[in-house]
Amino acid sequence: MIPHLVVIGTGYAGLLAALRAARIARGRVAVTLVGASDQLVERVRLHEQAATGRGVAHPVAELVAGTAVRFVHARVNEVAPGRLLTDAGVLEFDRAIVCTGGSVDLDLVPGARQHAFAIDGDRVGPLFAEARRVAARGGRLAVCGGGLTGVEIASELAEALPGLQVELVSAGEIMPALSRKAREYTRSALKRLGVAVREHTRVTMVAADRLETEAGPVGFDLCAWAAGFRAMPLLAGTGLPSAADGRVIVDRYLHARPDLLVAGDAAARATAGGGWLAAGCKTAMPMAAHAADTAIAELTGGEVREFSFGDGGSCVSLGRRDGILQFMDAADRPRERIVTGRVAAWVKERVCRYTLLALRAEQRGWWGYRWLKGQPQPLVAAEVMP
Ligand SMILES: Cc1cc2nc3c(=O)[nH]c(=O)nc-3n(C[C@H](O)[C@H](O)[C@H](O)COP(=O)(O)OP(=O)(O)OC[C@H]3O[C@@H](n4cnc5c(N)ncnc54)[C@H](O)[C@@H]3O)c2cc1C
Repeated sequence: MIPHLVVIGTGYAGLLAALRAARIARGRVAVTLVGASDQLVERVRLHEQAATGRGVAHPVAELVAGTAVRFVHARVNEVAPGRLLTDAGVLEFDRAIVCTGGSVDLDLVPGARQHAFAIDGDRVGPLFAEARRVAARGGRLAVCGGGLTGVEIASELAEALPGLQVELVSAGEIMPALSRKAREYTRSALKRLGVAVREHTRVTMVAADRLETEAGPVGFDLCAWAAGFRAMPLLAGTGLPSAADGRVIVDRYLHARPDLLVAGDAAARATAGGGWLAAGCKTAMPMAAHAADTAIAELTGGEVREFSFGDGGSCVSLGRRDGILQFMDAADRPRERIVTGRVAAWVKERVCRYTLLALRAEQRGWWGYRWLKGQPQPLVAAEVMP
């Protein structure tokens, strides 16, 4: 019997891990992909869907067609040693790669879950329909969260629906992970698009028609929630150590347990600076590719390597015609050097296209996904492998 690798999750990480594992295993390992959704949602384009209504999902069946990946459409309810309990029955495995991702945190403040649209796969379609209705009567949209997701949503909707009065509310400075210059550029771009920005304004509650904030109420007709981050809870009951946002801590090979690797937004990997690698597509895909390489090496007696990642920078879209490219220094800190405007918007579009192209390349065996390698990373307290 050949060993069995199961990959959980049909986001960027899960698909890349499964396709790559099947390609490099060349029949020596059986690869099963199990996912609660039978679609890959292009999450990096969710703000575009919110502004245009254009769908951003692709059938998993098409993405694994012609490969040795077996797809099981089922939610995984429990990860036990060597087996998964799923809606479709028990799946036994020799190795599993957990790529269950995360989402904005709707439990960050009371009322968000009831009264706000999360920037997430299944809520963005209805947000588009509501935003159009509200824009038609010149109504107000409050976007909560001043990180990349909140800024992209606010700018995209303000540009696409000029009737909408958009207000962006951020607990701290907007875009804290970027340079001062990038933040200044973002503020002026948002102003040009007519977006009112309230920084250092913590939301304490969401009611049906207003945000309660430390600086007083902010009225709205529609609220989009882009604040906070929580990993999906699948591994929460396993007793595995996790970061404050629920991501499971992985070691230098991306193991959380000897039989379990975790990749993408579900994984917390320590950085040299003492924090965790940021959740994002740019880290999810390298982790997924590395987890696939590790799992296949372990199951076939190959060489196992430590995960290495260098941050090439960030691309932020500010509507369809503007954006920011943020470059990083050798220690993965943002440089003051940025590229803006149409060039940045053009590059961002290519980066989004590349995520799908990279999956197709693994599917069709054109090339293997590659990424920028970085400095050696520190060990974490929860290291489980020698
Ligand atoms: C508007 C927006 C813009 C973004 N832009 C960027 C960007 O420019 N650059 C960047 O780097 N990142 C960006 N991101 C973040 C990026 O989209 C995520 O980091 C990326 O999607 C993570 O991929 P993932 O595969 O780990 O998780 P996900 O894409 O969230 O996939 C998780 C998968 O797991 C499945 N799943 C969950 N629980 C279970 C279960 N119990 N059983 C079975 N299946 C399960 C889900 O159905 C889903 O298919 C953006 C995000 C948003 C929302």
